[in-house]
Amino acid sequence: MVEKASVKDVRRRNRALILRHVWLNSPTSRGEVGLATGLSAATVTNVMNELIAEGAVRAGGFHESDGGRRRAIVGVADDAGLVIGADVGETKIGVKVFDLALRPLAEREYPFKGRRIEVAEARAAITAQVVAMLAELNTSSSRVLGLGLGVPGIVQDQIVHAEVVGWHAADFSGFGEQVGVPVYIDNGAKSTTQAEAWFGAARGVSHGVMVLIGEGAGAGVITDGRLYRGHSSSAGEWGHTKISLDGPHCRCGRTGCVEAFVRASTVLDQWCGPDQTWLGRETEGVDAVLRAWRDGDPAAKRAIDNLVNHLGVALSNLVNLYNPQKIIVGGWFGERIAAELLPDIQAAVRSYALDQPGDEVVLVRSQLVPVAAVLGAATLPISQLIEYGEGAERLNA
Ligand SMILES: [Zn+2]
Repeated sequence: MVEKASVKDVRRRNRALILRHVWLNSPTSRGEVGLATGLSAATVTNVMNELIAEGAVRAGGFHESDGGRRRAIVGVADDAGLVIGADVGETKIGVKVFDLALRPLAEREYPFKGRRIEVAEARAAITAQVVAMLAELNTSSSRVLGLGLGVPGIVQDQIVHAEVVGWHAADFSGFGEQVGVPVYIDNGAKSTTQAEAWFGAARGVSHGVMVLIGEGAGAGVITDGRLYRGHSSSAGEWGHTKISLDGPHCRCGRTGCVEAFVRASTVLDQWCGPDQTWLGRETEGVDAVLRAWRDGDPAAKRAIDNLVNHLGVALSNLVNLYNPQKIIVGGWFGERIAAELLPDIQAAVRSYALDQPGDEVVLVRSQLVPVAAVLGAATLPISQLIEYGEGAERLNA
């Protein structure tokens, strides 16, 4: 019994290794797959034949390699099915339909700026967008491998705990039946990190951290090339780690959280005082404070210095804990501040972190803003196909 299970495990692992390489490097060749995975030519051939029969991989064409050898190309069967990504952000839900190579085919947004959204409304909105887009593409839900859903907070199976947006054990069970396709849910920072790891600034990074900063702050941790989840998938809740015993009030109801120091509205409050509200106009406000900072406005300088310092402390804790090669800074506010302040933030991180990991780490900007979140959500069903063969029966349906 034990031996049987282990043979099965090895087969699944080999299949996943090969399929992941094809997905992230398509088009490629059997030889390249063998080199990259370290598997024997015979194993690569056997598994590749299975994947071609299953419909996930397509063989076809040749390209010339060095020395004029012709190598048969294998690649993702991009039109063998569809995947959908949906992300519940701070002000809108984005939904996109992709082919299997993750090229977008249709997209919709559902805005809810300046208010909270209830779970039932989010479920209904996503369902309506999916139905409309599939009709627009003149295709059926049977062709969809799955819908990946990125949400704020901690995801345990179909239950989402996101106190900062008022979701206390929000229930997504039955959502697959409601929307008519298999649904896979993950924390939005984690799925965004996966997008950056597959296609963006974290590609090829074995040990990295992605931080997303907006009105909230989240992180995804990559260790040994994989997302780190912890015991019940809450790892990476960096935004609510404490860097002070006091400080601004956080949306989680506590004080001293990273998020409360580094979010956009804190910087705007410190610049303008609490009397001027930027509610609903945060991006405009951030552009204004950065402009004022460039012009030498003392209040803007204080607010930005404060941000850089607290971000330096908060990121240096990640550096000491995880020893990342790279920290990728993203999110709508993170992207804006990184465009101007990345060298200052990096200097602050170095000054607060231990010397050795601090000197090694490099801060970079996200390469996928603003598409990372929805793209990341769409990687969820593809990950399931790669790791477990889930959804394979829907290929070429
Ligand atoms: Zn908090």
